[in-house]
Amino acid sequence: MSVSATPGTATAPSLRAAWPYALLLAAGILLPFTGNDYWGIIATRAAIYWVLVAGLNLVVGFAGQLAIGYVGLLTLGAYTTAVLCARTSIGMVPALAAAGAVGAGFGVLVGLPALRLRTFYFAMGTLGFATIVTQVALAWTDVTGGGVGVPGPVLPAPFDTPWGFYAACLALAALCTWMTANIAASRFGRAFVAIRDAEVAAEVCGIGKPRMFVLVFLFSGATAGIAGGLFADLQTYITPDAFTFDLSVLFFIAILIGGRGSILGPLLGTLLLTALPEVAAPLVAWSTFLYAALLLVIVLLIPGGIASLLDWRNRRPLERDRSIVPRPELLPELLVERHRAPPLAMRDIALSFDGVHAIDGLSLTLHAGEVHGLIGPNGSGKTTTLNVICGFAQPQRGTVTLGEATLPAGAPQSRASSGIARTFQTPRLVGEARVIDNVMIGGTVTGRASFMEAALSLVRHRRDERELVRRAAIALRCVGLEALATVRCDRLQHSELRFLEIARALMLAPDFLLLDEPAAGLSAAEIEHLGRLIRAIRDRGVGVLLVEHHADMIFDVCDRVSVLNLGRELAAGTPAEIRAHREVVSAYLGG
Ligand code: ADP
Ligand code: MG
Repeated sequence: MSVSATPGTATAPSLRAAWPYALLLAAGILLPFTGNDYWGIIATRAAIYWVLVAGLNLVVGFAGQLAIGYVGLLTLGAYTTAVLCARTSIGMVPALAAAGAVGAGFGVLVGLPALRLRTFYFAMGTLGFATIVTQVALAWTDVTGGGVGVPGPVLPAPFDTPWGFYAACLALAALCTWMTANIAASRFGRAFVAIRDAEVAAEVCGIGKPRMFVLVFLFSGATAGIAGGLFADLQTYITPDAFTFDLSVLFFIAILIGGRGSILGPLLGTLLLTALPEVAAPLVAWSTFLYAALLLVIVLLIPGGIASLLDWRNRRPLERDRSIVPRPELLPELLVERHRAPPLAMRDIALSFDGVHAIDGLSLTLHAGEVHGLIGPNGSGKTTTLNVICGFAQPQRGTVTLGEATLPAGAPQSRASSGIARTFQTPRLVGEARVIDNVMIGGTVTGRASFMEAALSLVRHRRDERELVRRAAIALRCVGLEALATVRCDRLQHSELRFLEIARALMLAPDFLLLDEPAAGLSAAEIEHLGRLIRAIRDRGVGVLLVEHHADMIFDVCDRVSVLNLGRELAAGTPAEIRAHREVVSAYLGG
């Protein structure tokens, strides 16, 4: 196997990953010594743009939201800073802080519609916001000076000279890079990516989309507001026409050509797009065209952006015939001894989709320490049963209870904290993330550190990460995938994805584990391994609900079996009873 799974290399910003940043920073620090004032100004502008793009990158590249109107937040930050400095006696540093706060507030205002509006519609919303801000800046002449404008603010000495200002911008840009890299490598960054690529899986892991969106829009709004303040300083005099749509496009395209889910890619993208019109000075009028052409070339030739070119590790070939050999004997390290959970029960559930009865008066009780098989023909309501338990489907009648407590319908992200984990009939994973990151997504709710603690890499965050990496490494060993820990998930075979989903579910140390056709697409040997793994999970006191078509496996592994037909229970009992049940045999098992 060509890849190793030492936890050290599997975790956050390692030193090896830091060298490109160190190189860029060194170039940035050496630039003043060249004495080239012209490039100094361009570099200052690039640093300011990056302060905004760094935050926006979390929204677009990580959380996958198409926010194209961030120039609106830049404008707000610029006017807040400039107006405060011009019309009050507070200095530029407090004014910048105010711009950050205003940006954060409006960032959430602009961002939260993303909870309801999808892709294109959300993008249009952000664009509308940018237009409104410019119009208000034009019309509100008492404060903004309208078309005449306001003088730009100036930082206090020693940052009031061009090179002094450059130093301040470079320092802020470096700080933003470090903070966003920390966030990206934290449970928050993984949660954003999970929402982007595997939303239902994120919910099952207890990741609440509203909370994550508030955090990411607060943060990116703040960086955009601060970038606006710095931009105002750079302008010396600001008017609404300084904030063009082209600028918004630049921010967005820098991320697209940089590559999703990367920090370095969009950073290089920002540098490239800022420098490009200067290098091609005669082509200034063509800059929009250049962006478009560059975008087209990148989308067509390297869809993963600059980041995918830099990701040489993932071009190494993987071993061809890999076999999955789970090690269930390691489960006690993950599923420690604890009290048995009370039964998880569905009572008289009825659910129909447009008149089609998917479930029709079904009751089912799962006990800790038992494997409960759920079989039935296609369309008999097995997956829907799992969806009802997990809170994805809201039944028209009936309740789901855990012991005495009723579990809220339609609140899937609440199930993780109730100790319920599941896998999906079609694996839901983040293809662009590494295998170990996918597993760590399963442990998101166990983290204690706040978003800011993660951004600043404080002690509690580092402790969280160490623990998550440790547990994820064990989970991968339990299912036999440890050799693939640092491989991108989309390079795995189908059977490996099935085991990977189980590893992710185990990260919760669940009381109940719901498996939706985990053996589909597995070889005979793999099914054998899977059966052993499921029995071992049960022996740790977990209640397993096993939806499966492979009759042999069901009878081999289950303690109890329920047979569904047309959303109703056709039969229930021990495997021996089911095997002898006349109706079941003739209708479903055949023979
Ligand atoms: P199984 O997992 O046993 O194959 P499902 O639970 O997926 O079956 O589906 C049960 C029935 O409910 C099927 O007739 C299916 O077409 C229908 N169904 C499931 N989900 C939906 C949905 N979201 N909208 C409409 N019909 C659905
Ligand atoms: Mg199904």
